[in-house]
Amino acid sequence: MGLRLHNTLTRRLEPFEPADPDRVGIYGCGPTIYGHAHIGNFRTFLFYDLLHRYLEWKGYGLHFVMNFTDVDDKTIGAAREAELTIAEYTEPFAEAILAEADALGMRRFDLYPRATAYVDRMIELVAALLEKGLAYTTADGSVFFDISAFPDYGKLSGKDLDQGRTGERVADDEYEKDDARDFALWKGVKPEDEEVGAAWDAPWGRGRPGWHLECSVMGMVEVGETLDLHLGGEDLIFPHHEGEIAQSEGATGKPFARIWLHVKHLRVEGEKMSKSLGNFITVRQLLDEGVSPAAIRHQLLSAQYRRELNFSRAGLEASEKAVTRLLDFRDRVARALDDSPGEEEGAATPPVPPLVAAARNARSAFEEAMDDDLNVSGGLGALFTFVSRGNSRLDEDAPLDPREGRAALELLDSLDQVLGVMELGSQARTVHDDELEAWVEDRIQARSEARKDRDWARADAIREELADRGIVLEDGADGTRWKRVGAAVGDRG
Ligand code: AMP
Ligand code: ZN
Repeated sequence: MGLRLHNTLTRRLEPFEPADPDRVGIYGCGPTIYGHAHIGNFRTFLFYDLLHRYLEWKGYGLHFVMNFTDVDDKTIGAAREAELTIAEYTEPFAEAILAEADALGMRRFDLYPRATAYVDRMIELVAALLEKGLAYTTADGSVFFDISAFPDYGKLSGKDLDQGRTGERVADDEYEKDDARDFALWKGVKPEDEEVGAAWDAPWGRGRPGWHLECSVMGMVEVGETLDLHLGGEDLIFPHHEGEIAQSEGATGKPFARIWLHVKHLRVEGEKMSKSLGNFITVRQLLDEGVSPAAIRHQLLSAQYRRELNFSRAGLEASEKAVTRLLDFRDRVARALDDSPGEEEGAATPPVPPLVAAARNARSAFEEAMDDDLNVSGGLGALFTFVSRGNSRLDEDAPLDPREGRAALELLDSLDQVLGVMELGSQARTVHDDELEAWVEDRIQARSEARKDRDWARADAIREELADRGIVLEDGADGTRWKRVGAAVGDRG
């Protein structure tokens, strides 16, 4: 069975059937670039990355776009405080977020449009909605979407509209409008907008685009009038995506997205993340603390996107161990393959050696889990079951059949095309190994100088310093050799 995804719109699992499998059109709501992204944002972005990688792994061709919101209330407020224009203020955050995304092993998407580059097209869309009688202008030069003229309004979130009439307050309450539930397509200019360069001319008056309008336009211009997939965090279902549907479908008469996917919000140490609770963690902070990118990536990816995920220090440690287990196993297989006796011509080897069969099963179990609405924890489970099986196989006396070694390495590399944790973890391991090697060589040199000076106490101290880090020295006729003992990477000579 192929991939099935949970469509927020229909509240059901649906088969994934893109219009053109060679160019699957995907739009994901990206960060508002007024500060560093937090780990909750990155749960969502890493989910986009997982989806991106998985669809490519399954052979689809993609056109995958994630925007940067560079004009809205938050960017304007932050730019004013910093006494910069929005362009000056936001661009460094776009770069920082891309650098953090790279550090977490995210593959680049095809395009990262900035909202401010599409204002002309936004004005065109507003004009079309006014033309169709789906929007109205107000005295201050704002334009609002008239939700009473769009019967489908509410279909994504399942909101009861009449409830909205009394209870729901729409965010733009400082602008005048006919009905509290109507949302701004265009916000009439205010002096603070001019201050930071966030105002544009439009036929109905100077101002700036509403947030929902920005994503409708970037999505339609860069991906198409009907997206195969529209992605976002669960907080965006209402009003953001409800608004996008109203604007886009109101203008085109076509469904804006076939499938809507929403990522459940990350919790931190069991609580909602918020500045006031002091549990607001950025990826930058974790990286600066020296937490390994592979552990962060593993932890943020470890639960299926619609399930609860709780980020914790204990969880990070468990993730670190999980990544180490994968890398150790990979090293172990590679060594066993080096040591294996090679193909035995005509020998009575079974047609399918055990680890080859296990690798095959793991691959199909992984795909089956991922096809089930991207159940990544099931996918990881399949991988770790294989690792246990492989370790037991390597514990046996019988030497590894090279076919087994190759099948195991191929499986690990293939699944990591999707997961991307071994790739990240092994980069860090190589760096650590190089650093360690340089340090050990330096200490050995210092020890041999101490010995030349007959400073035995110092020479012994250096030997102990090395022993503390698991390095054992062997003095021989041709100099001093060293090896690691009890270390994850194995001995070095
Ligand atoms: P923002 O920068 O606030 O516009 O958010 C960027 C993306 O991160 C959106 O798709 C949000 O839905 C998502 N997001 C925000 N907070 C969280 C969270 N705690 N967990 C998961 N995703 C989040
Ligand atoms: Zn959006």
